[in-house]
Amino acid sequence: MSNVVTFKGIQRSCKIINNVKNYTEIVVHHALQDYLRNNTIACSCERCLADIMALTLNRLPARYYVSMQGELIIKSESLVLSDQVRVMADVVYAVQQVSTKPSHSLVP
Ligand SMILES: [Zn+2]
Repeated sequence: MSNVVTFKGIQRSCKIINNVKNYTEIVVHHALQDYLRNNTIACSCERCLADIMALTLNRLPARYYVSMQGELIIKSESLVLSDQVRVMADVVYAVQQVSTKPSHSLVP
């Protein structure tokens, strides 16, 4: 039966997935670092920063590319200004959302 998923098959799928990267993740990560350099936020713990990343990424289209064995892909196409503005606007929105309603209590 060809549709039986074997352990080897799962291992292979995991390997393939690891080679597929989302360029938008890199862009959002850089935009968030830029934002944090110039602004202070209510809480910058790992959980809140991960929430901000996830919220921002859910609002932006994914741009997948293939990177075999960790090979570094230098993107020749840089983001056009309107994309950069949109990414930063979504980062700011996510920061506001997470600051207003963090996943954890702000009171120690
Ligand atoms: Zn936090």
